[in-house]
Amino acid sequence: MRQMRFLHFSSGLIAGFVNFLYPSACPSCSMPTDNLSFSPFCTQCWTSMKKYSGPSCSVCGLPLVSDYADRCRSCLADPPAFCRTSSFGIYDATLASAIHHYKFLGLRRLAGPLAHLLMFYDTAGIDAIIPVPLAHDGLKDRGFNQSLLLAYTLAKKKRLPLIMDILRKVENTAPQVGLSAKERTANVRKAFVCIGRVPDMNILLIDDVMTTGATVNACAERLLAAGARSVSVLTLARAGIL
Ligand SMILES: [Zn+2]
Ligand SMILES: [Zn+2]
Repeated sequence: MRQMRFLHFSSGLIAGFVNFLYPSACPSCSMPTDNLSFSPFCTQCWTSMKKYSGPSCSVCGLPLVSDYADRCRSCLADPPAFCRTSSFGIYDATLASAIHHYKFLGLRRLAGPLAHLLMFYDTAGIDAIIPVPLAHDGLKDRGFNQSLLLAYTLAKKKRLPLIMDILRKVENTAPQVGLSAKERTANVRKAFVCIGRVPDMNILLIDDVMTTGATVNACAERLLAAGARSVSVLTLARAGIL
């Protein structure tokens, strides 16, 4: 315990020194960064991110207004290929900012702390973890697949196999922003292929953000066609709601 306190103390000192040399402010509260673990976010903002615990659709994870409903209208009318969705939180405030910095501003070092937020998930019964893939062009532009880094860390911590070479994105779909749910589904349906089999496996599919679910649904359809017994979805944040 004493050693941990010392490490925390010295990490704070180093963070203070680094911040003195290269000043950076927390994107959420503008206070100086006080740590190296999830810099540039400050400890208070990062640790204030709490798991969403309100009622939500048991299939797609959409937050619901009633504690007594189990599924949203959309999942009742047109059940998706995946059977269950869990997200750490709502795409808002510090969580949205952290994902933005990780994904679009290239702060790859946030992969570890963000993956840590996914540790709440009970992986009992899961046989393997698969990340939502990026098309070649997307990978070239970003330099890394944000879902793969999350999935890699989670698989390691949960001691589960990571399958990263079976599900592929073959077509560069147009940006999803501004499209309706139907247009999104049509846009992504053809974009994924499975080049191997996942016979009788319960798969946990990882993505950073879930909006309409069109992307994970297209992936789940392919995985089920490749022999999967079930596909569950785990994301950092649920967006496009409220
Ligand atoms: Zn802050
Ligand atoms: Zn639903």
